[in-house]
Amino acid sequence: MATIIDGRAVAARIREQVAEDVARLASERGSPPGLATVLVGDDPASQIYVAGKHRACEEVGIASIGRELPADTSEEELLAVVSELNADPAVSGIIVQLPLPDHLDVARATSAVDPAKDVDGLTPTNAGLLVQGRDGLVPATPSGVVELLRRYDTPLEGAHAVVVGRSDLVGKPVASLLLAENATVTVCHSRTRDLEQVCLSADVLIAAVGRPRLVTGEMVREGATVIDVGMNRTDDGLVGDVDFEAAAERARAITPVPGGVGPMTIAMLLRNTVKAARNADRTAVRRL
Ligand code: NAP
Repeated sequence: MATIIDGRAVAARIREQVAEDVARLASERGSPPGLATVLVGDDPASQIYVAGKHRACEEVGIASIGRELPADTSEEELLAVVSELNADPAVSGIIVQLPLPDHLDVARATSAVDPAKDVDGLTPTNAGLLVQGRDGLVPATPSGVVELLRRYDTPLEGAHAVVVGRSDLVGKPVASLLLAENATVTVCHSRTRDLEQVCLSADVLIAAVGRPRLVTGEMVREGATVIDVGMNRTDDGLVGDVDFEAAAERARAITPVPGGVGPMTIAMLLRNTVKAARNADRTAVRRL
């Protein structure tokens, strides 16, 4: 039977470390790092995610700033709020909560965030730094995936890692991070031919698709490590992209849903906020 990768436990340890870092930073600079969220409209799931981020900030001592805008906010109004937060020294990190209402352009909104405050890692600057293997702010869920692999001693160098999904938010950054770990990376998507055979050749299989139980037990190689990023709300409750029971019979280690990657996302977001605050302080010192 596979080792169950405990994302909740790993995330709790990261949050403890973040809380210590926040306390140290707050005493050094006289104020804690701050995370700003921008929520447009009244999508209930987004409201829950944003509230969860504020709660998590509070637990580790990060100040949180919430901007709630009506669903009919114009692009100019949204960009003006982002620009005001970019200029605010109390704000270390900014999140534009997705999805946005249809009339707003996601790329323009996320690209308006100052790359130094882009704790979601979605600006072209941070995405480019990641592809080039340089230091920047990396999207939280992909960093959480790689952190779990590291903490469970998963051999990555020379391993074949298969990533199913190629979104800017998850699949592509996960692929870049695994490449930086010297894995041989294959990225699959909806046009991939013979997904089952490709997945079967994976030492490390990452599913980030958004289709309940798309990855069956037969697609998992004996001894593989399986990371399920999927979060699908179904009549059976929250399920991942992997058929957990069947995959666990073959895998060396596997993440459950819930309790795997999910808790890591907020922990890594908090860590990014601390990193952004530290970088801002260093930049301020260089300017003196
Ligand atoms: P997304 O933007 O919808 O991307 C889905 C990807 O899956 C696309 O690249 C798509 O291919 C590919 N795909 C769709 N159907 C496929 C199929 N039948 N075979 C192979 N590939 C297929 O989704 P996302 O934002 O990356 O999120 C993926 C999942 O992760 C969702 O369940 C989401 O809820 C979850 N998620 C979880 C967290 C967390 O904190 N745990 C964070 C973010 C996302 P094409 O590019 O060809 O369309």
